[in-house]
Amino acid sequence: MQYEAPETTKAAVGLLAKAKGSAYVLAGGSDLLVRMKGGFVEPDLVVDIKRIKPMREIRKTASGFTIGAAVSCAEMNENKALIKAWPGVVEAAGLIGSKQVQSRCTVVGNLCNSSPAADSVPALFAAGARAVIQGPRGKRKVAVEDIPVGPGKNALKKGELIEAIELPARKGKSGDAYLRFIPRSEMDIAVVSAGVSLTLDAKGVIKDARVALGAVAPTVVLVKAAAKAIVGTKLDGTALEKLGEAASAACSPIDDKRGTVEFRTKVAAVLARRAAEIAYKRAGGK
Ligand SMILES: Cc1cc2nc3c(=O)[nH]c(=O)nc-3n(C[C@H](O)[C@H](O)[C@H](O)COP(=O)(O)OP(=O)(O)OC[C@H]3O[C@@H](n4cnc5c(N)ncnc54)[C@H](O)[C@@H]3O)c2cc1C
Repeated sequence: MQYEAPETTKAAVGLLAKAKGSAYVLAGGSDLLVRMKGGFVEPDLVVDIKRIKPMREIRKTASGFTIGAAVSCAEMNENKALIKAWPGVVEAAGLIGSKQVQSRCTVVGNLCNSSPAADSVPALFAAGARAVIQGPRGKRKVAVEDIPVGPGKNALKKGELIEAIELPARKGKSGDAYLRFIPRSEMDIAVVSAGVSLTLDAKGVIKDARVALGAVAPTVVLVKAAAKAIVGTKLDGTALEKLGEAASAACSPIDDKRGTVEFRTKVAAVLARRAAEIAYKRAGGK
C-alpha cells in the first residue's frame, strides 16, 4: 500500500486520478482505518489530506462558512461564530462517537462514508450545505444531498475529492437543530435522527424550512413535504402534526434488532417535531 500526504489539493487530485487499483482519501480515518483493520477494504493508495492547509481551516465569508475537509468535528465545536450561525450542524458533529473520535473525524468523512445513520449528514442536508468537489476536470459544487447514493456509496467520480463544505450565510431570524434517538446516552449509531433548519419573518412566521431524516431509508433523506407543512405557520399544533405525518410518510426503514419499521417510522415524526421546535426557538420564534 502506498501512503501519500500531499500539501496541495492539486497534488492530492493528481495522485487519486493517476492511481491504479483502489484509492482512498484519508481524513480522520475513523471509518477508513476501522474498515482497513477489519479487512473490508485493502487500498492500493491512501491520500492523507490533513497536510493541505486550506483544508484545515474554517473560513467565514460574506456568503457563509467554508469548512475545510480536514477540519475535525472538535474544531467545529470550538468555533464560536460557527456555533452561533449553525448550532444544529455543530451539535450533530459533536454527537459523533466520543471526544477522542471527534478530535479526528470530519463531517466530510461522515458524508462520504454515506451511512444512512451518519449524524452530521441530516444537519448538513437541512442547512442547505454544498460540497466543493475538486477533480481532474476542475472544481464543481453540488448540494450535499446529491453526495450519498446508497449505503456506503457516494457520487464522487475517480480522482475526485471533497475540498470543503459550504454553509450559506444566515439571514435574519434563523435557527437549526439536530436530534437522534439512541438506546444509550452516547457512543451509539442513530436508530432514527432528524435535522431541521428554518428562517422566520419579522412576525415569527416560518418563511423557509428544510427537514432531513437519518436512518429511515438507504440514504439520509431531505423531506420537502415536511418542510412545506410548516412554511407559512408559527409552528402551531396543526403544523407540527402535519410535519410529523410528512416525516413518517417519508420513511422506508430497515427492520432490525435496533429498531423495527414501526418504531423508526413513529420516532421520525417525534424527532422531526422536536427538532423543529428547538430550531424555531433558536430562530427567536415564540
Ligand atoms: C468508535 C467510533 C464511534 C463512532 N460513532 C459515530 C457516531 O456516533 N455517529 C456517526 O455518524 N459516525 C460515527 N462513527 C463513524 C465515523 O467516526 C464518522 O463517520 C466520521 O465522521 C468519519 O470521518 P473521518 O474524517 O474519520 O473519515 P475517514 O475515515 O477518514 O473517511 C471516511 C470515508 O470518506 C472518504 N473521505 C474522507 N474524506 C474525504 C474527502 N475529503 N473527499 C472524498 N472522500 C473522502 C474516505 O476515503 C472514506 O471512504 C464512529 C466511528 C468510530 C470508530
